Amino acid sequence: MTAAEPTGLPRIDVMRPWLGEEEAVAVAEVIASGWVAQGPRVAEFERRFAETQQAAYAVATSNCTTALHLALIVAGIGAGDDVVVPSLSFIATANAPTYVGARPVFADVDPLTGNVTAETVAAALTDATRAVIAVDQGGVPVDLDPIRALCDPLGIVVIEDAACGAGSTYRGRPVGAGAELAAWSFHPRKVLTTGEGGMLTTSRADWADRARKLREHAMSQSAASRHETLLTPAEHYSEIGFNFRMTDLQAAVGLVQLDRLPQIVADRRRLAARYTEALAEVPGVTTVADPAWGTTSFQSYWIELGPDFPIARECLLVRLAEAGISARRGIMASHRQPAYEHRDTGSASLTVTDWLTDTTLILPLHHQLTDADQDRVIAVIREVADEAMPEHLSEMCVA
Ligand SMILES: *Cc1c(COP(=O)(O)O)cnc(C)c1O
Repeated sequence: MTAAEPTGLPRIDVMRPWLGEEEAVAVAEVIASGWVAQGPRVAEFERRFAETQQAAYAVATSNCTTALHLALIVAGIGAGDDVVVPSLSFIATANAPTYVGARPVFADVDPLTGNVTAETVAAALTDATRAVIAVDQGGVPVDLDPIRALCDPLGIVVIEDAACGAGSTYRGRPVGAGAELAAWSFHPRKVLTTGEGGMLTTSRADWADRARKLREHAMSQSAASRHETLLTPAEHYSEIGFNFRMTDLQAAVGLVQLDRLPQIVADRRRLAARYTEALAEVPGVTTVADPAWGTTSFQSYWIELGPDFPIARECLLVRLAEAGISARRGIMASHRQPAYEHRDTGSASLTVTDWLTDTTLILPLHHQLTDADQDRVIAVIREVADEAMPEHLSEMCVA
């Protein structure tokens, strides 16, 4: 338990990574082996991850942002190209196309899932569109098939940003399995964690090979393989690469985390169902749910506050904080950030994005959240819903 809040009740965090003794032992073994950089553990993590996610190839990276960056490069995206992305996403989704000199063009999202659809992507297409990045927002699987049906005939590559997608399913398979390229995050805020870390999965051997080289300075031979011989052949660099490597320390943690994944997802889904049931009758509250085509890991459990809810989102965040509960504003909208505000990012309407980013909040959900903790969160929301806005809050809650 962390520091007690003024309420006297222990603080409830929005998220906590699920890490235990097994991860500590796995890291200690790597340290004892003397090889801590990218090596055999990373290779094993890639194999196991590809197997779990039903992907043909997996290439480990330093994080999901670098995996997205590599995905765009291997897909041949560069200067002069447009890449359709949701504005409603962590900013890395929009930054990746910017890194390769392409222009992110913002598409709106579906109000129920928070994800782009074939319709919102179609509304954002330009003559220069060469790729689309479709996000599984908060773990909610994006409806990929209609987007591919739109894009494939046009030669537009669809990349799945599955940063939050580990443990989510789409049409009976893990998310990402139906994408030519998918990028994953192992940041502690996500379902699986390696501290920092990421993965690129792909159905194409040539793209996997190129990504593997590019993540390691585009070196002709990996450092791990050169280490195997005393007299190493001279390496060469056929293009300009990057250092986007994962370490064996991280991969050792990742291997343990993969074993935990089914339990992590089962626990998250049980707690999510409890929230959904308890909040079903609260006027003005809509809860995130599984779409018709799949299941979510509930990497984020968000609620949307409609006009029937008596106070604004900012006020509810204050009320939760006063009760020792850390919630979060919903998913950000990149088009409203200074980094993109003054850039040309297309002309698609983003009204659903604006609505969701202003009215949603993410509730605490992690493996150490007890039913009693969860009941405290639910009690605050119900209490607020039952009362008119008190005078002092109207001043306090100005965003
Ligand atoms: C977290 C996140 C990222 C970035 O992941 P990192 O591993 O921190 O680089 C990218 N896209 C989405 C949708 C995310 O939620």
